[in-house]
Amino acid sequence: MGIGGCTDRQPVSGRAAPLEVAVTLLPQAEMVKAVGGERVCVTVVVPPGGDPHTYEPAAGQMVKLSQAGIYFRLGPGLLPFEDTLVDRIREMNPEIVVVDTSEGISLLSGGEEGERYDPHIWLSLSNAGKMVENIRNGFVLTDPAFAEYYAGRERQYQSKIREADSFIRATLAGKQGAAFLVTHPAWDYFAKDYGLVQIAVEAEGKEPSAREISTLIDRARREGIHVIFVEPQFSSRESEVIAREINGSVVFIDPLAPDYLSGLQRVASALAEGASNG
Ligand SMILES: [Zn+2]
Repeated sequence: MGIGGCTDRQPVSGRAAPLEVAVTLLPQAEMVKAVGGERVCVTVVVPPGGDPHTYEPAAGQMVKLSQAGIYFRLGPGLLPFEDTLVDRIREMNPEIVVVDTSEGISLLSGGEEGERYDPHIWLSLSNAGKMVENIRNGFVLTDPAFAEYYAGRERQYQSKIREADSFIRATLAGKQGAAFLVTHPAWDYFAKDYGLVQIAVEAEGKEPSAREISTLIDRARREGIHVIFVEPQFSSRESEVIAREINGSVVFIDPLAPDYLSGLQRVASALAEGASNG
């Protein structure tokens, strides 16, 4: 599903050829397919299991990107590799329309090394609503004859976003102020939306010292936390140790799930179980 081919392209009878578009992350692919429907085929730069903080595109991907008509980037200052990539794509393919999906979103500080902001914007559903609006605008600009088509599909997906948000609010009812423990600090935007507190083992992309880990364990015990949430993209060696120390368990949550809206609802259910009492 990485760049390599638009294999999901369907022939559309009686219409112009579909647009080839690229996105940086898997969750953006769900959004772009939702809005673009059968007008588009989507390739994803960071493949499943890839780490967007350290990703380096392969040469073959550059060729593929140089053929895309639109690149829905995450946004400037979020992922250093993407900033570099956009410059290179524009040199190879000056016609490409680059859409900043973060436009209009309030960015939080707290990025890793080389990141100006916390890049995990898509993990907030209110941000997702903005991203989808930006995606629709990008399609309308590039393919104005189908403006109504994109607008209709955007409205449908926005209503799915609102349904997912209602599910998450109901799932986390009574958890206001609750704290949860994660290895990788991906969930600040999510926590802010739902009144939760993220406690992270890593800070600014760095591994914690032994003393920092023991402070963290004390805090988790004080807060009555018995779950450490780990992302499948990252190693969980130290999380096993921490789980033992808090007499708890390791639970996986994926910030890059390809089934984006369902994935966030699964995360809410996991947090309802594994966060402290609010
Ligand atoms: Zn991350």
